[in-house]
Amino acid sequence: MQALTSKAKVVGRKPMTFWEKLYIPVIAKGMGITFGHIFKKKATISYPEQTRTFSPVFRGVQVLNRDEEGRERCTACGLCAVACPAEAITMEAAERLPGEENLYKEEKYAARYEINMLRCIFCGLCEEACPKDAVYLSETLVPSNFNRESFVYGKKELLIPHPLEEPEAYAKARGQKRG
Ligand code: SF4
Ligand code: SF4
Repeated sequence: MQALTSKAKVVGRKPMTFWEKLYIPVIAKGMGITFGHIFKKKATISYPEQTRTFSPVFRGVQVLNRDEEGRERCTACGLCAVACPAEAITMEAAERLPGEENLYKEEKYAARYEINMLRCIFCGLCEEACPKDAVYLSETLVPSNFNRESFVYGKKELLIPHPLEEPEAYAKARGQKRG
């Protein structure tokens, strides 16, 4: 048969010996490797029950922050969206109405605030750009999901729990780094 290239190499197919046909030596070798790993330290962990220690500079899912009275800090200035290299942030501003002073810290607030987690590269520039300490990247991983729409996080997913009404959930969302 004519070779297709000059690099073609004929592979020999020598018949198997008696020991090779028994397969016992290779099975024993394979079992030896398996048992050898039983007593070694496991390279894997049982996530999500167990988690690894994150690096001190780890950046997780964003949190929209509240002040100590529980009012939303975001003033919908848009600086985070401008700073975002992935164009992952969308928002709509609204005017605070009389009587809403206990809900929103500033006269303007984000009626809609969304981050597309499939676009986000967790660079932290939104946190750096914010003049109101209203957004920060937490120590929480973005959970997996089955459809793309679920990765567009709105205020429902991003807003930190109320510090006075849900102190435990608030402390958990704040994380270790921010105390
Ligand atoms: S972490 Fe970076 S990519 Fe993600 S929303 Fe903030 S600025 Fe955009
Ligand atoms: S999170 Fe900060 S930077 Fe972004 S719109 Fe709100 S106040 Fe402005």
